[in-house]
Amino acid sequence: MRPPLACVLSTVATLALAVAQEPAAPAPPSCRKCESAGVLVCKEHKAELLALERAVERCSVAIGCKRCGGTLAIDCPNCERPETVSDLASRGVALRDWLLARHEAVGRFCKTPASIQYLATAHADLAFGLEGAMVDKRKLDQHQRMHLYGERVEATRRRFCEVFQLVDADFPVPADDASPRLALHMFADPRDMRELSPRLTGIGAMGTNIKLTGGIPVWCMIADDRSMKDDVDVHRVVVHNVVHLLLSNLLPAREIGPTGEGWVDEGIAHWFEHEVDGRCAAYCVEEATLMPGTNWRNGRYRVGIRQLADEGKLRRFVESYVKNSDELDLEENAHAYAWVDYLMATQGGPKLIEFVRRLKARVPQRDAMQAVFGFGPLAMDERFAAWVKLSYPAKETGR
Ligand SMILES: [Zn+2]
Ligand SMILES: [Zn+2]
Ligand SMILES: [Zn+2]
Ligand SMILES: [Zn+2]
Repeated sequence: MRPPLACVLSTVATLALAVAQEPAAPAPPSCRKCESAGVLVCKEHKAELLALERAVERCSVAIGCKRCGGTLAIDCPNCERPETVSDLASRGVALRDWLLARHEAVGRFCKTPASIQYLATAHADLAFGLEGAMVDKRKLDQHQRMHLYGERVEATRRRFCEVFQLVDADFPVPADDASPRLALHMFADPRDMRELSPRLTGIGAMGTNIKLTGGIPVWCMIADDRSMKDDVDVHRVVVHNVVHLLLSNLLPAREIGPTGEGWVDEGIAHWFEHEVDGRCAAYCVEEATLMPGTNWRNGRYRVGIRQLADEGKLRRFVESYVKNSDELDLEENAHAYAWVDYLMATQGGPKLIEFVRRLKARVPQRDAMQAVFGFGPLAMDERFAAWVKLSYPAKETGR
């Protein structure tokens, strides 16, 4: 015989109440010291530094912390939480293994391995040997400055993706011959640059600025104080070269500078560089390597190009547009910037990157221009000159 429904319900309710009241396992005693988290924040990292460390994935200086080993947390002495202890320990081991691998790849070949610090951000791995510097009237030490560059690299990538409306899927997935991560090496000692750049890029030790582009983006630079007097000069060079790496890494991964599309590669790199402080001074040409600090009209590209337009002395697009990056002279670099600036302003970033994609797929420039912009190379000069006179200042403004 079935029991009455009301009776069944009441039994179920009683059982449910019993289950709710009976704890499944003894709850850990609440701990006021750690608010029952089981860990405390490591006090060795003061407020501002703690925020810097939390903004990155890994930092060699934090890993050197004797109390936390870079985990930024220590086991709470007031409560027993074995799973927290083992989690902290395994995080500590992973951080030490990473640091060891970075030392094996970079530091052990440097004159003073301890002078190189390492940082991993969301999209970049940075080996940093530059000393501290004054930045915006603040003295930063080497460690703070490395974090600043980590953030500047991330900011450059964010801006690049914003302007061209790109997402992670536009870059390669990690594989043996591809990585979306940017490997950046910034040295202060010329000996470290000579020793490391061939090892890291497979490219000879010439120059102050060496990059391996395409599927695996690697860049080595030496902060040459003849061409990089202030931190802002280093900043521009970093933005310029990170953009080269991103452009080549963008799918289909291929560098366009050495295959007759130099103005596109240099123009886009200068365009982002120009956003730092309205000047350009980073060059990927031998002329600038042989004469460090050399520049075109003090890097004031917009005023310089406007003056050429007023004098009727602008270069003809068809005479430069099939040159490689290293064949462009300084004045052509300024034109490359302004041609890109013109296309950004009149066509927009997404169309410009569509043009780049076609070049990477080896579509001839004239066909790609016609298809994406609706005009060919011969129609460039007239439109460009008119736009420059409307858009660029005739005199240097306060900036
Ligand atoms: Zn506790
Ligand atoms: Zn750090
Ligand atoms: Zn610590
Ligand atoms: Zn360049």
